[in-house]
Amino acid sequence: MIVLKTRRELDKMRVAGLMVAEILAILREKVRPGVTTIELDRLAEKECRKRKAVPAFKGYGGFPFSICASPNEKVVHGFPNAEPLKEGDILSIDFGVLYDGFYGDSAVTLAVGTIPKDRQRLLEVTEQSLYRAIEQMQEDNRLGDVSHAVQACVEPEGFSVVREFVGHGIGRKLHESPQVPNFGPAGHGPKLKAGMVLAIEPMINAGRAGVRILDDGWTAVTVDGRDSAHFEHTVALTDNGPEILTRLA
Ligand code: MG
Ligand code: MG
Repeated sequence: MIVLKTRRELDKMRVAGLMVAEILAILREKVRPGVTTIELDRLAEKECRKRKAVPAFKGYGGFPFSICASPNEKVVHGFPNAEPLKEGDILSIDFGVLYDGFYGDSAVTLAVGTIPKDRQRLLEVTEQSLYRAIEQMQEDNRLGDVSHAVQACVEPEGFSVVREFVGHGIGRKLHESPQVPNFGPAGHGPKLKAGMVLAIEPMINAGRAGVRILDDGWTAVTVDGRDSAHFEHTVALTDNGPEILTRLA
């Protein structure tokens, strides 16, 4: 069942979403060659505590950190570690909070220093596919319109859509119904209604779509070792169309 949020609940989700945006903006400022992802993780946790928010991922299904840090060929769910970021890397940071009973969830892939053109293109197209999907979040469109928009944006560029992980409804739970794949035919699936809140999150590979999980049981990497990018926003469908909750005001 897809839970529709009331006006009051959406107000609370705006607060949680803004916190996610603020903390991700703080992390983004720190990303440069020499910084480690464990430092970013500690900073995220500190900023949560300051706001009396709970890091959404820490302990979720046993995940041990506040952020997912997934550089280069890592797709999602990477563990922060003490390895310094290098000039030319890309780094996906996925982060969420729980505040006042509601979740916010967002992800961004960042350039570490100056990155090669092909990496830049992957980031641009993946982010663009997220916004194309958000544009489709209109009343009486179908969920498949959102999913299809991602696929239609990235595949003509020669990139591929990860199939194993998908976006999701979000609210009082981090993962609610429906699942939001980043592929599939337009015009299918449930109709979108005001009050729905979706975490839309394209995970896009430079090469083949396949992923595998490392021995830590969490980290997903591309099977071909090529790059992967990930952008995510928590988006509410309101009477005035889509509203991105995890964006700075
Ligand atoms: Mg996320
Ligand atoms: Mg998510």
